[in-house]
This record gives sequence, C-alpha cells and structure tokens, in this order.
Amino acid sequence: MSRLKRNRRIYFLVLYLIFTVCIMLVFRYYVNNQMDKHLIEQISKSSSQNLSRVDEKLKGKIEELDNLAIEIGSNEEYDYINSFDDLQRFANVLGFREIGIILPSGDAYMSTGKILNLKDRQYFLQALGGKSNISEIIIDRFQNQTVNVYAVPILDNKDNSVKGVLCGLQPADEFLEDFYSEMGSEPYMYILKPNGDIISKAEEKSGLSINNIYDILDDFAENDKVIDNIKNILENGQGDIINIKNDGYKYISLNPVGINDWWVMTVGTDDVLREKTVIIAEYIHIFNVGIAVITIVALVILLNIHKGREEKLERIAYCDQFTSLYNKEYLKANFLDRLKKSSHKKVALVGYDVNKMKMVNEIYGVQVGNYVIKYIANILKMSVKDDNEIVIRDHSDVFFALYMYDTKDELENRIDSVINKVSKIICNNKNMQLTMAVGIYELTNEEHSFEKSFSYAQMAKNDNKKNVEKGYSYYSQAMRETELRNKQLNDEIKEGIANKEFMAWFQPQYDTFTKKIVGAEALVRWYKSDGRIISPYYFIEFSEKTGLIQEIDRIVLENVCKSISQWREQGLDVMPISLNLSRAYLSDENAIYYIKNTLDKYNIPGDLIKLEVTESAIVDSEDKLEKIIEIMHKFSFRVYLDDFGIGYSSLSSINNLNFDTLKIDKSFVDTIGTEKGNRVIKYTIDLAKNLGMSLVAEGVETKEQYEFLKAEHCDVIQGYYFSKPLSASEFKEVLEENQKNDDKKVVD
Ligand code: C2E
Ligand code: MG
Ligand code: MG
Repeated sequence: MSRLKRNRRIYFLVLYLIFTVCIMLVFRYYVNNQMDKHLIEQISKSSSQNLSRVDEKLKGKIEELDNLAIEIGSNEEYDYINSFDDLQRFANVLGFREIGIILPSGDAYMSTGKILNLKDRQYFLQALGGKSNISEIIIDRFQNQTVNVYAVPILDNKDNSVKGVLCGLQPADEFLEDFYSEMGSEPYMYILKPNGDIISKAEEKSGLSINNIYDILDDFAENDKVIDNIKNILENGQGDIINIKNDGYKYISLNPVGINDWWVMTVGTDDVLREKTVIIAEYIHIFNVGIAVITIVALVILLNIHKGREEKLERIAYCDQFTSLYNKEYLKANFLDRLKKSSHKKVALVGYDVNKMKMVNEIYGVQVGNYVIKYIANILKMSVKDDNEIVIRDHSDVFFALYMYDTKDELENRIDSVINKVSKIICNNKNMQLTMAVGIYELTNEEHSFEKSFSYAQMAKNDNKKNVEKGYSYYSQAMRETELRNKQLNDEIKEGIANKEFMAWFQPQYDTFTKKIVGAEALVRWYKSDGRIISPYYFIEFSEKTGLIQEIDRIVLENVCKSISQWREQGLDVMPISLNLSRAYLSDENAIYYIKNTLDKYNIPGDLIKLEVTESAIVDSEDKLEKIIEIMHKFSFRVYLDDFGIGYSSLSSINNLNFDTLKIDKSFVDTIGTEKGNRVIKYTIDLAKNLGMSLVAEGVETKEQYEFLKAEHCDVIQGYYFSKPLSASEFKEVLEENQKNDDKKVVD
C-alpha cells in the first residue's frame, strides 16, 4: 500500500474521532443545558408551591384573626372577660394555643383566662402601629414555651383608630409543623428574615440548629459573589433563582412572603434534583459512547475490508503475475517515496534486457523461455539489498532495478554479479550463453522525475543493446541528443504525413526466364518540401517504434490502390503489386480487414495485391501470424516472406506458416559467387520449392547473380539489374511499354 493512502486513512480516522468527540461534547453540553433548564423549572415550581403554602398558612391565620378583630372592633361594649370561652373555641379552630386581646396599655386578656402585660413585645407594638405581623420564635411568659405570635390591630369602626391588638399564640413546633411537610424532603424550604436569620428551617426537624442562612451558605457557596448576590436580594431585591456550584450544584430560589419582610428560600441540591434526569442523561451518554464505539469498530472493520480489497486490487494492478515481481506502475507510484527514504549517497535506475530472448524461445521452446525469464527475475530479486530498493518487470524480458549505493564500484559489482549469474544459466546441461543489455541512469540530486529517470535508463539500455560489446551503458548527454533528434524526426514525419509528403514508388519484378514484368513492389518515398527524396531506411524502423508506420502504410496502400485503379481505367494490364506490412499489421487482424475494405473501395480484386511479411516479424507470435495469413488468403492476397536470410526465422516456422513466396534478401544475393553463398542459395531455393513456395530474389544487381539465380530456377528477379524503384508515372510508362510490346508480339 502506498504511504499516501496509509496516511490518508489515518487522517480520516483521526478526523472521524475528532468529529465523534466533538459531537459527544456538543451533545453532552446540550444535555447538561437541558438538565439545567429542567432543574431551574423544577426549583421555581417548587418555590412557588412553597410560597403559596406559606402564604396560605400564614396569611390564612392572619386573615381569620383580622376578621375576628373587625368583629371585636365593631362592638363598642366588647366584654373581654366573658368572651374567653368563645375566643378559645376560635383559637382551637384556627390552630392557636390561645388568643388574646391586648389593650393599648399592653394589658393582655388571654382566652385561657390569663392576664398579663405585653407592652414590650415587638409584635404588639407593630400591630398597635396598624401592621399585622407574626413574631419570631419567642418564649411565652406564662408557660416558658417557645411560641410564634400572630398579631393584628383591632380598629375602631368609627374612626379606624387602633383600639387594641388581637393576638394568637402558636407553639413554635406547631408553627414549624405547618411547613414540615414541605421541609422534610428536598427541595428544602426556609423562611428567612432579611438579615438571613432563619425563622423556620427544615433541619430543625433533624435536630440541626443553624440560625443564620449565611452560616450554611458559607460552607458550600464557592465564592463570595453568590453570598453577596443573596444578601442583595434579601435586603432590597426581587426574588430570583441563584445557581451555586460546589461539589454538585445547588439551586436557590428566593421569594418574598409579604409578611414581616420575610422570605421563602427554596433550596434544591443538584444530586436529588438531578437524580432522575441524571439517570436518563447517563443512559444517553452511555448510549452515545456505545454508538461511537460501535461506529468506530464498524468503521475500522469497513476500512480493513476496504484496505484488504484495495490491497488485492493493488496486488493485481501493481504485480506482474508472471514473475511475481512488481510492475512499472508500482515503481512509478512509489518512486519518490523510495528515493526520500534512501540513506545512501547515490541512486541508480538500471534497465536489464535479455539479449536474443527470441532465439531462446525459438531454439529451446517457449516453456524454457518462460522458465528463463522467471529465473532471471529471481536473480534480479536477489540483487536487491536495501528495503527501499526494488526490481520490476516492465515487459517480456525487460526489467528495471532501483539500486541505492555509496560508490560506483559497489553498483557495478552488483550489476556484474547479475550478468554473471545470468551467463551461467544452463539448459539440458548446456550453457545458454545468455547476455544482457544493461543501461544505467544515475539520478542527479535535482532530477527526481520518474518518467525522465525511466526514459534515461531505457535510453542507456537501448544503447547497450546496440553495442553489445560494452558491459553496460551509462546514460549520457549524447543519448539525450539522440533522443532530441528522434523527437525532431518524429515531428517531421508527422508534419510530412499532414502535408502528404509520402508516396509509393514501384520496383518492377521480372520473370527470370521470359524477362517480362510480372509485378512490382511498392516502396515508400518521402518527398521533403526542400526537394529531397528520403529513403525508407531513414524512417521506417523509427516509425515502427513510434507507431507512425501504420499511418505511412495506409498512405502507401491508398496510393497504390489509387494508381492501380487509374491504370486499370486507362486499360493497362496491371500486375500484382506487393505491399510491405509493418509489424503492427501482424498482430492485429483488423488491419487486414482495413486493407480489404480499401481495395473494395477502389474495386480492386485481392489477387492484384501481394503482402510482404518481414522475416524478423515471425518470431513475435507464430500462432497469431498463422491466423492472420489465413485471413490474407481468404481475401486472395498472396503472402510473401520478405528479407529471408537476415533474420532468424527457423526452418520450422517457414514450414508451419503458409507463405506463398519466399523473397531471398539482398544480403544473401550478395554472397553469390562464393562457394558457401552459392550453396546456401541453392539449398534455400530447393527448400522453398519443396515446400511449394515460389521464389523472388531481391537486390539482384549483376549479370552473374542473375545467371546463377536463373540456373537455380529462381522464379522472379527484383533488383537494379533490371530496374531501380520508379515513381508512379515512370512505372506507368514501363507498363505501357510492356503492353505495347505484348500487343506488337500478338500482331507479329
Ligand atoms: P524491402 O522490402 O526489402 O525492399 C527492398 C529494398 O531493397 C528497397 O529499399 C529497394 O529499393 C532496395 N533494392 C531493391 N533492389 C536493389 C538493388 O539491386 N540494390 C540495392 N542496393 N537496393 C535494392 P527501400 O525502398 O529503400 O526500402 C527499404 C525497406 O523499407 C524495405 O525493404 C522495406 O522493408 C521498407 N519499406 C519500404 N517501403 C515500405 C512501406 O511502404 N511500408 C513498410 N512497412 N516498409 C517499407
Ligand atoms: Mg519488401
Ligand atoms: Mg526485402
């Protein structure tokens, strides 16, 4: 897996985790916020309930007393002494221990019959001042009992002046009892004086006795601000809810009672208030975490499945199935990464190409050839020492190795060792004498492009292939110049194609015995705009490498067809013309269909066309060629084996492939006159005849050559001895001349 992909995966996971954590935090914040809202709602609900209860209990009693006071006030002759029983009944109904009437002098007549003076009591003084009120817890002077006293003024119904005070005594514990039901459980309720003194408090019941609220708050309020805030509210302010944070949270709600400047304080502790909500929230958190964990696990599993699949695909895409080495694509994807990791001073990309591999296949068979390739792949694999080094198979017998080293000697020793091992490969106890073309490109510090490095190593390898005597070739500036020249040539050819500078010439072929024209070979010529005519030797092989040859061949085909069709229209006897087929035609049967379609377009029968397959093309793929020759025959094309003698087409392949004619190459013809040459040509002619093939000798230049070939029954002669290649118009003249002579003979 490439590092880039691995990093991307890690980034993705980290991003996902950050995302999940953020979502969880936001969710948690949201839940807490909602909980706070909920708790505040709850505490304000409780506090208003508390307030209304306090209101109901305290004000209810005050109101009842007020009603009684009005009754007493409206009765001018109220008989205190004889009314004690009635008052006591009232007291019992209203929940007082006793009720008393206090005269402005402070003399008090209690419903229990007691008479005493209460002029110093605060509640009395306030009620006398016209203000109904309730006392704090005080000690009852008769019974020494703690009590709270409710006091209301008795108004004269004439002038509304205060003529006395009506008071009701309630034992303090009963007073508290009224609120215990509210105070016994959370949220707690306190009734406070503005200075913080607690009039009634929940803890009273549990025996705790704290007199001032600030003593409690001091313990758990985190900062003074909160206490200041409470003080502010109690002394001047409106009711409010205050949030106090200690270990947990405390929510305090303060509301004025409306009696005696008292306040109802409702306190809810976080733990209890939250109890339910917290459980739900915890479930939500657990659920949330669970989901996150499940998602992460699922994600990891998915990523692994994906990774596995990716790796599998990567193996397929990056691995050469035949040798199990990596392929060029892999090297390309990992090139820079490997260079970066190298701890050595130098890096070289080395191209290896097995020389004459085709011959190995021919001589030993494809199976042995395959075995040799795999064996060489293993030798190369072992030449790799560093983790960052790598060997790849580019195609067939071509490999590249990325080596990292410190000295040139070190590099050359490794390459020598590979060459040496390859040279020792044995088959059937016989050394196969294998050699390799090796090209080395030493990377410079600034040149780290894969494409360039690869093409330089390739250039060096190709150079070495041409100069086999050199052990290996280093990439050089000269090679680069060649490359530039090649590029220039390629551009020129393209331009030539666009400008229709390519044309077919025709070299006549003669019957050896009658010396009459029996056909011609179409040979391409490049008419440059400067007037030069360029020989195919200059550009054919090159165009085969660049692929432009197919276009050139199409131009020649079109040219030939056009000429044949014109000549036929002019009533000339046209002999079969042969076309040279580039290698590309021999691997793609569609190309043959293309020829057929072009002929059809010009209405030319197939037997007017001969197709020349160059000998060196045979070894590429005999099976394919066999099929293609079959198609050629189907369309009535005669098939020639061109250049026989220069390649290494074995006799077996000539036998297997169904050629109609064998063309003896000029290099063979040139040997005529030597004993060996004569013998070889004789033998070749015999062989071809035995295989049912006719023979054409090309490059025949001399009478001696002609006479020899005639004596050996070679059928057709092509060469300067009879004619050089001619332009279409020149060839047409030859055809016309030929026809005239024929006509003359017929007339004679
Ligand atoms: P080839 O197919 O073997 O063609 C024969 C070559 O020998 C021609 O060279 C021809 O001019 C030359 N030749 C013929 N008789 C003599 C002679 O007596 N003495 C000498 N010295 N040379 C002679 P040319 O035309 O330069 O073509 C060279 C090669 O280029 C051809 O070899 C053929 O392989 C290729 N070629 C030519 N035209 C085309 C084409 O249209 N398409 C393809 N694919 N290849 C072509
Ligand atoms: Mg030819
Ligand atoms: Mg030839």
